[in-house]
Formats: sequence, structure tokens, C-alpha cells
Amino acid sequence: MSTHSSLGAGTPITAGNVDLTNCEREQIHIPGAIQPHGVLLAIKEPEMTILQVSANAADMLGLPPSQLLGRPLSEVMDPTQFRYWEQQVLLKRLDTNPLYLVPIRMGTRQREFEASVHRYDQVLLAQLEEYEPVGKPRTLDAYSSAWCMLTDLQRTKSLAEFYEFAAQGVRRHIGYDRVVIYKFLEDGTGEVLGESKRDDLPSWLGLRYPASDIPKQARELYLRSWIRIIADVHAAPARLIPEDNPLTGKPLDMSCCVLRGVSPIHIQYLKNIGARASMSISIINDDKLWGLIACHNQTPKRVSHEARIACEFLAHSVSLQINGKESTEHQDYFSKLRDHIARMFEYMSVEKPFYLGLVNRSPRILDFFRSSGAAMVVDGEVTLLGETPSAEHVRALLPWLAQQPLENGVYATDRLAQLYPGAGSFREKTSGLLAARLQESSLQWLLWFRPEVVQVVKWAGDPNKPVEVDAHSGEVKLSPRRSFALWKEEKRGCSDPWWLEEREIAAELRRAVIEVILKHVEQLRRLNVDLGRSNSELEAFAYAASHDLKEPLRGIHNYTQLLARSLKSHMEPPDTEKLQTILKLSARMDDLIDSLLAYSRIGQMELLYENVDVNELLQQVLVMLKARLEGVNATIRIPRPLPPAQGDRIRIQEVLQNLLVNAVKYNDKPEKWVEVGWQEKTPVTYYVRDNGIGIDPRHHATIFRIFKRLHPAEDFGGGTGAGLTITQKIIQRHGGRIWLDSIPGQGSTFYFTLGSEQ
Ligand code: ADP
Repeated sequence: MSTHSSLGAGTPITAGNVDLTNCEREQIHIPGAIQPHGVLLAIKEPEMTILQVSANAADMLGLPPSQLLGRPLSEVMDPTQFRYWEQQVLLKRLDTNPLYLVPIRMGTRQREFEASVHRYDQVLLAQLEEYEPVGKPRTLDAYSSAWCMLTDLQRTKSLAEFYEFAAQGVRRHIGYDRVVIYKFLEDGTGEVLGESKRDDLPSWLGLRYPASDIPKQARELYLRSWIRIIADVHAAPARLIPEDNPLTGKPLDMSCCVLRGVSPIHIQYLKNIGARASMSISIINDDKLWGLIACHNQTPKRVSHEARIACEFLAHSVSLQINGKESTEHQDYFSKLRDHIARMFEYMSVEKPFYLGLVNRSPRILDFFRSSGAAMVVDGEVTLLGETPSAEHVRALLPWLAQQPLENGVYATDRLAQLYPGAGSFREKTSGLLAARLQESSLQWLLWFRPEVVQVVKWAGDPNKPVEVDAHSGEVKLSPRRSFALWKEEKRGCSDPWWLEEREIAAELRRAVIEVILKHVEQLRRLNVDLGRSNSELEAFAYAASHDLKEPLRGIHNYTQLLARSLKSHMEPPDTEKLQTILKLSARMDDLIDSLLAYSRIGQMELLYENVDVNELLQQVLVMLKARLEGVNATIRIPRPLPPAQGDRIRIQEVLQNLLVNAVKYNDKPEKWVEVGWQEKTPVTYYVRDNGIGIDPRHHATIFRIFKRLHPAEDFGGGTGAGLTITQKIIQRHGGRIWLDSIPGQGSTFYFTLGSEQ
């Protein structure tokens, strides 16, 4: 998309001195020559004498430069037209708006020209181009079609359509093979956003061009002069005679000349892309060069004044509308995202768990921020959507992410690979990262990814290599750049940037999710309070009920005993047996009530926390159980000393005792053993292992239920089935948990902790 325009006067560009900076150094506003399809006259005011003329004047006007220089304009021009010329030149501010005179007759050949006159560099510059009448009022025609284009442009619904219509409108006027809308991006590179072209040509839409394609001074010229035309790339330029402006003694400044001569570098560039003619019109926004309407044709092509005016008019309208269109498109994009947030908020209130509302329905988090992938991390669980690194890579990224500075809880980078060493293997998918932290814990995040920019943007060749020198002829060649790899290497690891508004919306989404989290936490807290209340009410009830039950039960037992004694000699054996059963059952009921009382007491009592030497406690338990252990021939193993614990000494002792009693009780082996040990985990995990009968996995949960026994009442020495329930309750009250592993027939291991896991 090179548009640099002319060769510096007196600075021939050769193989020896061409490099990338030539383009920047070229003095393109003083080329000392014009394109030969027109004639240039520099005229001195107020005398209106000719000071400079292009060498092709003899051909075009029938008067060689020697007959024109120093001569009054009135002598070479139609007298009526000259009078009009003089009037207009006095009246109009020709430094900002040129004067168009169509048709104009000049010279000896009586040819008609289109003339444009402007004042620059202390002289009047008249540019004459051959006039081709078409037999209808062209100005009106141009005006009405420009008006149509304007209406079309206003009606467009998206920026893409706006650019396309603008390109189409220009192409309709000038009939070129291709017209593109080219925007300068922040880094100076350019991108083709809209295009109208001949059907058989390949599309340039989306192509990016390096900053060096349109050097700085060419851009400055584009700000000064809106339109630039090269009618025929192969035409030999016509030099100015004399070379310097006699009033300034310097080369004539042709910044605003449409006929200005063209730089050989640019000519070569156009040849390389197969163009014979080119035209570009500036799009200016807030006094800055926003971009260009760039047009190319495969055959030489002039553009009439009227068409030029219409195109300029269109470019002005585009310039005026572009701000509004761009900001409407942005606003639409952001209001769509805000709408997404509102909908997600609804989803989160119905989905269970609520965070599935972010990934299960549309819009999902992936539908935010023009991202190619997204991830949700909840308690370390990773959910991936679209193009993302693997879950392990995401998890590995989190500790690094937690160290990064956040703004409103959000972190954004468009070059992750340069900052995070672990990104190397997935940088193509994830060069850009936007992250919103949901909670202080590093394990709650929403993440969005953007791919490396080279994957989404097609670059028209290697921007680092626009110029090549032919090895044989030494001729300078602007090659259509081939080495894409080099540029790709430079651009490695960068994504499209995250806009400020996108980061703000990520923060809004984050706030919405946090609001839902807090609502859930509050609900959970209330539920916990309710649960706690009903638990303690239940415990109080169980305590009161069992306490009150004991007394009548004792009465039943005592009276049955009295009855048994007084009726002893009068009763038949079956009746005696029945009375004995009543006594046994009431004793069992008494045991059950005692267990219930013990259980409810554990729930209600205050724990006395202290540092507990668990080894010492274990020894005390073993002393208490000595007779029992010896009776069943059980060995106790303690592979290594047990670490101390924080808790209620008496209760922990109860836990050890219950587990040890069960370990020897539910054991049918001739050589019974019990191992008491611990595992180095956080928190410390104690265990009691036996080689007993084992427990079928089906019962692993149920054995902790109160009064649940897996055997008939009398088997294995009886029991109430409350031991493990009480043990679990004690452990839970310490903030720990109890669980087991077991192989039926081989033995069981009961594990427990005494502190919370976080
Ligand atoms: P109890 O021992 O009074 O029956 P527990 O609550 O202590 O009540 O135990 C509940 C049930 O779990 C027991 O009846 C027994 O079937 C089973 N059980 C407990 N500990 C063991 C163990 N170490 N090996 C095998 N079974 C066990």
C-alpha cells in the first residue's frame, strides 16, 4: 500500500543509496517534475507572468517553454477567459480552495483543458489537464450521485458496511479496478477495512501493511492535500523549467499539486502490485490522518475534475461521519456486553451451582470481549470454553496471576508470553489474557484469551523488506514482500490489545458475580444458623427426653424385679422367662438412653481446648483396656510417636478408646493386632488399623448413624451402636473428620483429623 509520492529534487535513488529510510528522507513535495498528462504553469502575481513551466508545454499547448517563460498569461489565453481568471483570482482564497476552470483554452492549438489554480509557495500554480466533454452537465451529475452516496453512507448499519459503501461509491465515480478503505492503526501500520473491486481480483480485505509503506512525510502531505493521482505509472515525467521557483530560489513546492511527479520507489511499488494508475484520498478525523481511500487500476487512467470533486466530497463526508459511526459501533458492542452481564445475572440465580450460569447458557463468558477462548476457575476446578491452554496450564498460571497488580480486580496483558515464562507452549492461543479475580483466594477466576495477532491478521508480505536490489542490473526493486516469517518472529506473542472499556466491563461482570457469591454466602450463613439452632434444639430435646425417660424406666425395672422376686415360687418357667426378658430389655433400653444422653451431651458441652500429648493419652487408654486386650490376645503396634494435638483431652481419649475397643472387638483372627499411627498431611491424620472382620464399603457411611449395628445385639460382645456416632461428633466438634478404608475379611483402618483442612 505504498503511497510515497515523489523523488527528492536532485537526489537520484540508486542501488547504492536505497534503504528503508530512503522513503522517510525523500523530499516528495519538491520533485522538480510533473506527470506528463498535464501542464504546470507557475505564475507571478499581480503581473500574471509565467515564471515556470513544465517541459511538455510544447506538446500540450503548442508553445515551447522558451515562448512562455516571462510572458503575460493574457497573451496565451482566450481574452474573455483571462478576464474571468483575473476576477476570480482576486476574489477567492486560493491557498485553501483551488479554483476550477472548465473548459479553458490556452496556447496555439486551441485545445480545451480543465484547469485548477491554487496559490502556494508565493506563486499561482495552474495545472492544466486535457478536457474530455461527455455531452451532459457533468457537475450536476457528479453532485447528484455524490448526494446518493452520502445518503447510502448514512443508512449503513455497521462500520464494515460503511467502509464497503464508501469504497463502492468512489469506485462508481472513477471506474478503477480496486478501491479500498485503509485505516492507520496506533502503531503506524495500516489495515484494509473496506473494499470494492473487480470480481476477478483477489481481496485485500483485512490485510495489514507496515508503517514504512506510507512514510511520515507522505502522511504529512496527505493532511495538506486531500487527493493524489498517478495517471500512468509508465509515463516519463516532465521536468519543470527552470528547476527552481525564481521567487524563492528553491525548488517549487508542489505539496498541493495533483500533477506532482512520482517517486521511483513508489512507481516500482505500483508496478510490483500490477497497478498502472492510482489515486488516494485522505480521510481526516480530528485534524489527524485517520486513513486513506486508496484506488488502483491495471491500465492508465485519468480522473476528471468532476469525479475528483465528487470523491473529495465523499471523503469529506466519510471523515465527518467516521467518528460517529465508530463510536456508535463501540457503544453497540459495549451495550451488548452489558446486556450479557444482565442475562448472566439471571442465569446465575437459577443455575445450581450458580456459577454454571456463566458457562452453561448463551451468552457464555466466551461470548465476551472478542475472545477466542475463556476459562472459569472455581475452587481450583477449571472449566474451558473455546481455544484455550489446557486445564493444567491454566492451573499452573494461577499462582503467577495472583502476584500481578490488579485494577478493580482485573488484570490484562496483550503479551503474556513476554511476561509469563510458562506461556511458551501455548502462546499462539493465548498471547492476550484478561483475568477477573472473583475472590481473594487465588482459586476463583474468570479468564479470557486472545490468540497471537499473526494468526488473525494477514500481513501483505514482510514489512521489514519492502525494497530489493536486483543482483544483475543493480536496479532497485520494491518487491511485494516475501519474507513473512521474519515479521512473524517479531510479532510473536502479541495479541490485539484489550480496550479500556473491555477491562471496565470485565470489572462490572466481576462485581455481578461477586454479588451473587455474597448472596449465596449470606444464604448459606443463614441456613447454617438455622441448622445450628435446630441441631442444638434437637440435642436439648434428646437430652431432656432421655433424661426424663430414665426415671420411669428405672421404675419399670425395679417393679419387674420386685414382681419376679415375689412371684418366684408361683410362676411357671415360661412366665419367669418373660419377666427376665422384660428385665433384659429394660436394661438394654437403659443402655440406649445412656448412649443418647452421652451423644447429646457431646453436642452441648463446652470443649476445653489445650495442647494434648496424644502419646500420653494413648498410654492411659491402653492401661484402662489392659485386661480386655490381654483377654483377647491382641497386640498393639505404635510404629512411631504420635504428634501432639490441640483439643479436649477427655474427648480425644474417648475417640481413641472407642476406636481401639472396636478394633479388637470386631476381630475374629487368632492373632489380633491393632496399629495406631499417623500420616504427615495437613492437618495431621491419625489412624487406628486392625486385622479384624472388615466392613463392606456399602456400610462405610451408615456405621456412623446412631444405634446402627451391623450385627445382632449379642454378637461381638454386644453394643448400642452409638460408639462411632459419638466418636464422629467429637471429631467434628474439633473441626476434623473421620473416614475409613477397609477390606472385608482382612481389616479396617479408621482415619481422623482434629483440625480443619483449610
Ligand atoms: P457398637 O460397637 O456399639 O456396635 P459402633 O458405633 O462403635 O457401635 O459401631 C457400629 C458398627 O460398626 C458396629 O456394630 C460394627 O458392626 C461396625 N464396626 C465398628 N468398628 C469396626 C471395626 N474396627 N471392624 C469392623 N466393624 C466395625
